[in-house]
Amino acid sequence: MILSGCQSPKKPTVQGSANVSSTTSTQKSKKTTATTSSESSSGNSATSSSQATAASSSSTDVDAQTQDNSPTNVTENRAATNHIVSADSYAYSAAEVQTAMTGQPTTITQPTVFLTFDDGVNQTMTPRVLQTLAEQQVHATFFVVGNTLTNAANQNMLQQEYQAGHGIAVHSYDHNYNLLYPNRVANAAAIVREYQQTNMLMTQILGNDFTTKVWRYPGGHMSWRNLAPADAQLKQLGVTWIYSP
Ligand SMILES: [Zn+2]
Repeated sequence: MILSGCQSPKKPTVQGSANVSSTTSTQKSKKTTATTSSESSSGNSATSSSQATAASSSSTDVDAQTQDNSPTNVTENRAATNHIVSADSYAYSAAEVQTAMTGQPTTITQPTVFLTFDDGVNQTMTPRVLQTLAEQQVHATFFVVGNTLTNAANQNMLQQEYQAGHGIAVHSYDHNYNLLYPNRVANAAAIVREYQQTNMLMTQILGNDFTTKVWRYPGGHMSWRNLAPADAQLKQLGVTWIYSP
């Protein structure tokens, strides 16, 4: 679910690594922040993407210091996060997005759509999604399943997502309900382990400038019992989970 800002009125706040990208919609309708996630066995299911409009990833408010510095100098002072430097201009913190989805006031004042794609990466849908996003000049957040990243071709696909300026988030390692929620009851240790395992693997693939602290529960947040301990442990790690209110 993400997007890139085409007319962002101000530089979005970037808080550590828990960021998703955003796109500001030019539509005059009410806020269309995506709230639902569909699952697909074929991977890369889309979240309420129909209202996204073409967005430029160019930034008009990058400060002079950033523009003048070499990429090396930029990254020296920049905490590891889930997107490349150029995405800072349109990335919003996941916490702020989650707040907006509950209808509470945030700095997101324009009608904004956040596009997310779950269950990748793979060699069929992911290239098509990337191509469409590039054609439309919008950005998204990919909620990636860790066990898809064990071969070179899929690791390259993750690199393409990252280098294209999209946000990278975790959608568990195994996407196995029986491991995450045995008898429909959340296993907090397993959930946290799958987050950490996937984030570590992603960092190995994308480099030390990368870490992600954005998580989405497979099957949604409302489907399982006793998620509070897992929520608390993720929060303790600084991880924000995206769910539909
Ligand atoms: Zn899923």
